[in-house]
Amino acid sequence: MDGNGRIHNFGAGPAGLPLEVIREVSDSLPNLNESGFGLLEISHRSEVFQKVIDEARESVRRVLSIPEEYKILFLQGGASLQFYMTALNILREGEKADYLITGGWSKKALKEASRIGDAKNIWSDETNGFRKVPKDGEYDIRDDAVYVHYTSNNTLYGTQYHHLPSSSGKPLVVDASSDITGVEIDVSKHDIVYAGAQKNLGPSGITLVILSPWAISRIGNDIPTMLDYNVHIEKGSMFNTPNTFGIFVLGRVFAWLEKNGGMKEAIRRNKEKSDLLYKELDRTDFWQPHAAIESRSKMNVTWRLNDTSLEEIFLKEAFDCGLGGLKGHRSVGGIRASLYNYISKESVIELVRFMKKFEEAHG
Ligand code: PMP
Repeated sequence: MDGNGRIHNFGAGPAGLPLEVIREVSDSLPNLNESGFGLLEISHRSEVFQKVIDEARESVRRVLSIPEEYKILFLQGGASLQFYMTALNILREGEKADYLITGGWSKKALKEASRIGDAKNIWSDETNGFRKVPKDGEYDIRDDAVYVHYTSNNTLYGTQYHHLPSSSGKPLVVDASSDITGVEIDVSKHDIVYAGAQKNLGPSGITLVILSPWAISRIGNDIPTMLDYNVHIEKGSMFNTPNTFGIFVLGRVFAWLEKNGGMKEAIRRNKEKSDLLYKELDRTDFWQPHAAIESRSKMNVTWRLNDTSLEEIFLKEAFDCGLGGLKGHRSVGGIRASLYNYISKESVIELVRFMKKFEEAHG
């Protein structure tokens, strides 16, 4: 536990948030910004809420250096809906889109896009257990592909791009759900960026979607209303009742980030935390890290124990020591520590201390 009786939360999402933000949220529940209306009870059509959503959008734009001509949306349906919605808006029947497959989430994105057009897997590491991401030159993009899609960080397998993947000049669409604001991203080099909020951005139930002028120009006609990006652009993400609570929390998380050094500091902290953990994983072959070294994620660190029969005991003893959320995803097994933006260095130090003791007792 940390000093506040809270578990060291290494869960993959929803994930730990800054305690200051949790307290602000708690204070706003009975009375939001002295409006007299509680946070869960205020109309999305009120001036008070309009200010909340406008400030959240501006803060997102500043933190991620989003060019003025790009649109920012707060939608519902999770990143999973964006697997379909991106393709539905910018791809037509018979047109091509190329997908880099680095894990379960990119496979799902490909599956949904295949409902719309000719979506193709142009690179996959599946037979090798999704241990790495591709290097430029290891895949061919079709000449007439409309866009290239990639997943910047693979939450399940713990791999991550440390470069902007080449799209041979084609528009680039990225699912940045599990590393947005936690690593460098040049939004201006992408045409759609989407991310479920529940890791680095705030609570579940909000999806951040960023659209370039090109993406906006591609939006087709006759798209069902709720799936049409144009509808949400025109209505400022309030065509229907938005997730007011989620937008408020996301805004406070971004405000916290701005007060605490912005993305630059978050990136520095995340590097420091992941370096600490990988150092321990490389110290002894008692641990078996999953990802190839050059593709290691700074957000989700995955490993097995050399003796896999000890994994259950590891998880139980870790939990008893106040270290939670460490169970690997069911498709991978083993251990996964998610080190998102608001997981403290102290939590990682505690984890490494526990690991050393565990090895001494069981190694
Ligand atoms: N993409 C990635 C990279 C993810 O990690 C997740 C969730 N863990 C998703 C998509 C799915 O997100 P959601 O649950 O918001 O639909």
